[in-house]
Amino acid sequence: RQQRYQALRDVPARTQDGQDVALLMNAGLLVDLPQVEAAGAAGIGLFRTELQFMIASTMPKTSDQERLYSAVLDAADGKPVTFRTLDVGGDKVLPYLHQSPEENPALGYRALRLALDRPGLMRTQLRALLKASAGRELRVMFPMVTDLEELRQARDLISREFKHLTRFAHAMPRRLKLGAMIEVPSLLFQLDELMQLVDFVSIGSNDLFQFFCAVDRGNAQISGRFDDLSAPFMRALREILDAGQRHSVSVTLCGEMAGRPLSAMALIGLGFRSISMTSSAIGPVKAMLLDLDAGDLHHAITAYLAERHPRQTFRRMLEDYAQAH
Ligand code: PEP
Ligand code: MG
Repeated sequence: RQQRYQALRDVPARTQDGQDVALLMNAGLLVDLPQVEAAGAAGIGLFRTELQFMIASTMPKTSDQERLYSAVLDAADGKPVTFRTLDVGGDKVLPYLHQSPEENPALGYRALRLALDRPGLMRTQLRALLKASAGRELRVMFPMVTDLEELRQARDLISREFKHLTRFAHAMPRRLKLGAMIEVPSLLFQLDELMQLVDFVSIGSNDLFQFFCAVDRGNAQISGRFDDLSAPFMRALREILDAGQRHSVSVTLCGEMAGRPLSAMALIGLGFRSISMTSSAIGPVKAMLLDLDAGDLHHAITAYLAERHPRQTFRRMLEDYAQAH
């Protein structure tokens, strides 16, 4: 099986009915980089910058950050790379960064909330990203955006760093694209306003589903009870795709579901043309989509989601569809 996936590496990710789908990979450390080439990824859809911080015993210096980001861009060799700014707090703890104990860390002082309060940390990182991308395209996205004001502040920080570096005659990125992760349901009710502030969005379905269903993503006792392949969540994802289309903003999904062939099938059927996953999933997902008629599945999904009282679960419908095709 592994050999079969290997043989697919250079085969274009195109469905039976001619739809191209960008199969991107998630990464976070230097050791992941050879996989861009080995797995035939179309780029890095999520680079989790906090991993460098999590494995270090002291805060990584700007120069160390810059060196890593530059190595990532070198390894991607012109393919797009989306860097996510520090997503710490919650379950991601930095031993050298003091944080008070919290009753609900997932809902607490984390990610962009922490970064905006301690702009020094974020500015250092943005500076490292800008310098590492000299002459190349830089794509940056912010985690756990809850309110659009946070996004405005984050954009201000990056434009200040941009101006600062330009003043000191540093070479700047050829192009800068800014994005938001959609991980908090509050964004679902301000999609049009959100899309006007960004060049792209990426759905962090691990967190979005956790908050959508109020179900801890790490708690096995309950995680089996609620299904990310269910009509309400699919409708939410469809709303995001529709809003992206209205504003010509590209929409990607980079949570774990992108790497599970049945979920990836649902996402492509729903309308996603770009998904980002763990590198080992690219082969299996590509094998699935090469056999898929995305237009036909789209009709089946649309019909299902329009039903008020469907006879079977959405997951079951997908399983039957996959069996029959
Ligand atoms: C997500 O929440 O889906 C995501 C991709 O981010 P992380 O898993 O790093 O929280
Ligand atoms: Mg997340």
